[in-house]
Amino acid sequence: MKMRTTITAIALATSLTGCGNLIDAFTIDDAQVRAYSEQACKEYDSQSKIEPANSKYTKRLNKIAKNLGNQVDGIPLNYKVYRTNEINAWAMANGCVRVYTGLMDAMTDDEVQGVLGHEIGHVALGHTKKAMQTAYATTMAREALNTYGGSKVTELTQGQLADLAENLINAQFSQHQESEADNYSYELLKKKNLNREALVTAFRKLAAIGGSDHVLNQMFSSHPNSNTRADNIQARINADKK
Ligand SMILES: [Zn+2]
Repeated sequence: MKMRTTITAIALATSLTGCGNLIDAFTIDDAQVRAYSEQACKEYDSQSKIEPANSKYTKRLNKIAKNLGNQVDGIPLNYKVYRTNEINAWAMANGCVRVYTGLMDAMTDDEVQGVLGHEIGHVALGHTKKAMQTAYATTMAREALNTYGGSKVTELTQGQLADLAENLINAQFSQHQESEADNYSYELLKKKNLNREALVTAFRKLAAIGGSDHVLNQMFSSHPNSNTRADNIQARINADKK
């Protein structure tokens, strides 16, 4: 729903400023993507209940994450657990990975590991970068709409930062990106000799109980069905056995 509002905002801003493509007009480079992701992640942290370092959830997550390595393509991975019954996990382009206690309660260590592999995949494959670029452009387009300006803003105000964080939540990954991240997780687990079957059961659980593996709440409205994703991974396991 929110997504529709922001798209309308972009369309309106585009027509108001007479600028052909506002997404292009507000393009940010890798360093800016990292910096804004850092800020957006801090914004979420400040609004969330973070499990302390000595909590059983944090210790458990750190133990699971250790198997997957502490960086991806030179981006250091930073893990934290949010205390909420929501079944969710997400990552940002700066390597910030957040996992909810609801997801950890619902899944085994190996299943959580499979989900982490998927989130790392979104970072490695540039999906989180693209999402931040879209969220930034959306935020700035809305700003342009408000001010009838359109000039590039380099420093974000607190209000803009809050908007940016919200727009990031609403930036959807495509079906193709989801499948790519699933396959990335599969390859990562295979390479490290970790349990790949758990990726299948993780998706079966998501299909049965609902919830998302994402920053996006509306994931299940437009994304590949969790059972389809489980079937894809199972087929890969079967093919590898042949
Ligand atoms: Zn995903």
